[in-house]
Amino acid sequence: MNLEKLCKIANTCVQCPLHESRTNVVFGEGPENAQIMLVGEAPGKNEDETGKPFIGMAGRLLSEILHEADLNRSQIYITSIVKCRPEDNRKPKKPEYSTCIDLYLKKQIELIDPDIIGLLGNSAAYALIGKKNIKQIHGETYELNGRKYMALFHPAAALYSRVLLPQLKEDMVTLKKEIES
Ligand code: SF4
Repeated sequence: MNLEKLCKIANTCVQCPLHESRTNVVFGEGPENAQIMLVGEAPGKNEDETGKPFIGMAGRLLSEILHEADLNRSQIYITSIVKCRPEDNRKPKKPEYSTCIDLYLKKQIELIDPDIIGLLGNSAAYALIGKKNIKQIHGETYELNGRKYMALFHPAAALYSRVLLPQLKEDMVTLKKEIES
């Protein structure tokens, strides 16, 4: 199994109710040997329409933040805990993200084998490392089952509340230092 084959399987997936509200599956994007993976909550409208992750306003902000941290977006693998857009941009439910993580995200992580996984926002942090309060845990590294994780604010949260932006930028620099150490 490689990422391409896994993506083909995901593209016709009907394993959770989110398949009913999607236009395109947003599997993820980036190199198979990426040192950094970033995992968000779910595709939004723009992502659903194009099948590409993080391309709306939050995605553009993410690109800027990566650039400022001297990270190249094209070298990072970017995906979400669910690959299909929930209707009205609601949060994915536990059975939905648990199914999607088991079927796809865990295999993406295995195949890519990144040095660190950045969890963008509360939903990704809770789903992957069981931590709830992003305001308390952002910027900290966590080791779980041999993997290194760091939770960061979601770029959409930083768009909504600009006071979070400097902290998100700072955490992205910390994340970069983690792969250099
Ligand atoms: S969200 Fe994941 S598990 Fe659910 S239908 Fe889409 S690809 Fe399948």
